[in-house]
Amino acid sequence: MGNAENELRKDFLLDKWVLVAANRGKRPNDFKCAPCEPQQHSSNCFFCPGNEHLTPPEISRVCDVNSVHWSARCFPNKFTATSPGFSRAYGKHEVIVETPDHNKRLSQLPLGQVKNFIQLYCERLSALKKNKRIKYVSIFKNEGEAAGASIAHTHTQLIAVDKIPPVIREEIGACKEFKRKKKKCGFCALKKLERERIFFENASFICFCPFASTFYFECTILSKRHAKSLLDFNEAELRDLAIALRAVLQKLDCLLGNPPFNYYFHTAPFSSKIDFHFHVHVCLQLAKWAGFEHSTGIIINQVPPEQAAKALKEIK
Ligand SMILES: [Zn+2]
Ligand SMILES: [Zn+2]
Ligand SMILES: [Zn+2]
Repeated sequence: MGNAENELRKDFLLDKWVLVAANRGKRPNDFKCAPCEPQQHSSNCFFCPGNEHLTPPEISRVCDVNSVHWSARCFPNKFTATSPGFSRAYGKHEVIVETPDHNKRLSQLPLGQVKNFIQLYCERLSALKKNKRIKYVSIFKNEGEAAGASIAHTHTQLIAVDKIPPVIREEIGACKEFKRKKKKCGFCALKKLERERIFFENASFICFCPFASTFYFECTILSKRHAKSLLDFNEAELRDLAIALRAVLQKLDCLLGNPPFNYYFHTAPFSSKIDFHFHVHVCLQLAKWAGFEHSTGIIINQVPPEQAAKALKEIK
């Protein structure tokens, strides 16, 4: 391994470059995070049951028949980034708390609860879509301080904006370009191109470490079929998404000891006519970008994605 050659890779679709530094011989254990301090239920936590009155008025909730608490709830973000009242930052900013349990990471939730919060994502997406000024809804999660989470109790954020964000425009543009050149859908092509890096699969989704991963142990959960957003999926597909998301997070937590991560759901803009495959990016915050990365846009990744995928596949 010490003699392995480094390789400069370009993403299959995007103009995104990574230098895979195989010669550094890093192993998953080199990135193992220190065990998190168990969080105690805090009477001050806005997101804990009993403190619902401390959040802005609730928008929606999902309940389980077997539970005394709600399973997931949604309310406006108190420190809103976008607002219908901001003339130059129009939009909505909401929070979804995925579990009443202050101490749980997402990977520890039973499948039913994962299905519940995904249902809430769908519900909010569908409601926000009705507002014609809104062009895009970003659904994302920050878990751990290094990933930008300011409140320990696990939660997702939704930010709706009246513009199509540049990263989404790039993905759409790259997909159009791929189609123009190769006469086929770029995301469909990924199913083959990324095959050796697939570490989990079910009827509706593949999970892989991308060929040009910019984050260590980066994972993508990709819909096998054309689907612009969560709203295109039937019940069986949403269940498969919950299973895939849970499997990815469990594998990462087990391999790396509860690492800080962001995940974000990528959907096509509401107005888009392009063939698109809904997907989720899961990005671990284990490395700092330095001079080379900032000055060139080329990211050095010390964990070859093939090795990351192999290590994740081995975790049952
Ligand atoms: Zn809490
Ligand atoms: Zn396709
Ligand atoms: Zn994407």
